[in-house]
Amino acid sequence: MLIDMAQQYNEEKKTLLKDIRTKVIIHISAQHDHKKILTFLAKSGIINIEEQEKKIYIGFPNDFVLAQGKKIFNKSFKEAVQQVYNPQFTVEYRVYQPFSNGSDLLLDLKKLLNIKEEAASTRQSSEKNIKSELSDYFGILFDPSFRFDNFVAGANNQFAFSAAKAVAENPGTAYNPLFLYGNVGLGKTHLMQAIGNEIMQNDQHKVVIYLPATKLVEEIVQSLRHNKMNTLMRKFDDVDVLLIDDIQFLADKDKTQEVFHNIFNDFHSKKKQVIISSDRPPKELQHIEPRLKSRFALGLVADIHAPDFETRIAILESKLEVKQEHIDFELLSLVAQHIKSNVRELEGALNILLTRKKLSCQEITEEDVHACLQTLGYQSKTGTQSTNTSEQNSKSLQSFDTIVEMVANYYGISVADLKSDSRKKEITTARQILMLIAKKYFKRTLEKIGDYFGGKNHATAIYAIGNIEKKLKTDENIKHDYQIFIEWVEG
Ligand code: ADP
Ligand code: MG
Repeated sequence: MLIDMAQQYNEEKKTLLKDIRTKVIIHISAQHDHKKILTFLAKSGIINIEEQEKKIYIGFPNDFVLAQGKKIFNKSFKEAVQQVYNPQFTVEYRVYQPFSNGSDLLLDLKKLLNIKEEAASTRQSSEKNIKSELSDYFGILFDPSFRFDNFVAGANNQFAFSAAKAVAENPGTAYNPLFLYGNVGLGKTHLMQAIGNEIMQNDQHKVVIYLPATKLVEEIVQSLRHNKMNTLMRKFDDVDVLLIDDIQFLADKDKTQEVFHNIFNDFHSKKKQVIISSDRPPKELQHIEPRLKSRFALGLVADIHAPDFETRIAILESKLEVKQEHIDFELLSLVAQHIKSNVRELEGALNILLTRKKLSCQEITEEDVHACLQTLGYQSKTGTQSTNTSEQNSKSLQSFDTIVEMVANYYGISVADLKSDSRKKEITTARQILMLIAKKYFKRTLEKIGDYFGGKNHATAIYAIGNIEKKLKTDENIKHDYQIFIEWVEG
């Protein structure tokens, strides 16, 4: 089948297929040996997307390569497609003979993998094709599930939401910069990435970059150290839209602030959109140069408050809809009455309840909700302490297995996920946090820790623990979750 299909495609479709292929390859290159990728995937590519069937077709030059490629990469392909394209899509494989003679749907994989390695290590990049390199590398930091259509607008975020939509429709001209601020877990990252996703969807050629401020600091420090400042600045030349998350982490980073000031001015004067998020308004930022703070307030400053009760309910209901689940209104109300200031925690509570429902094969009861709220540290009700979780809570120290289970429930993932090789963001974060907890609170050796999480070696455990310790200093969401888990450990 599909003999000369690619010849019928217009340029736009070919670019889309190639672009997805690039992103998929970059995604799986983090999990698989690059030699294997070269051997089996150099002549494989995406040959079609069926929007109605929700399928992406991957073509291989012959039966043998197809069988091998499928065997080795099947799981990673699926994961990659769901992450970089659409979470609802699956993958199909076909022999597509034209690939054996090369095709313009294929890209030079060697180059692609090298680019990825360079980008990950020293940020040196060739000057050719810098535009696609940038979107390939930084594009993967985007979470495709952060969209406008699954962001619940309420009185708490209406202004920010409308501003974000306006910016997505007219980047660079509506409000520049757009400065979003609010407490942790209220949707700043979601909203800013929704803008980025929408801009990219409207115009494939737009290069949108999402950088947590800590990453920006790292980029600039590295460039200064290796005398590569010019290269870095040139990279930004090719960026159309810049998203900087949690700008408060630029505090006291004088040199970074100076460089960012230049980058910002350049963007602003060229009418290229900048979107910034922060935990407080520009004026209240500490240890950030006044001239930078005044730049931040040049466009539009929008705050996001904690959602009111109705919005909390609407958020819970929208998350249930995505999961195709139902929980009675009274029970949702109970959750929403207690968890008021963090949407992430609302999601966590929902995940815990749904796992409970799945495990017990029974409808969720009021007792379940109280137990769940108590697990999350809310005093929801005095009285019966009869459920499992409450009993567990009253012990002084939980067993590690119990903590692992509770953390998995909180994130809505399974213990098997934690022990797998999956690199999905949520799973990796949970796994790394648990590795740290195992070391710090359960005094497990690194070998044992690696082993527990699916036979990984101790170097992996060292890396994971180092990584999460770093993130705990800079990522408010992770810090927040970690504190909840530590309370579980300590009982
Ligand atoms: P922040 O960056 O402000 O700390 P996030 O954007 O990471 O918060 O949001 C935390 C979680 O809550 C995310 O999973 C996000 O999808 C969800 N969330 C926050 N606000 C909303 C909302 N209004 N509607 C739907 N989901 C939301
Ligand atoms: Mg955030």
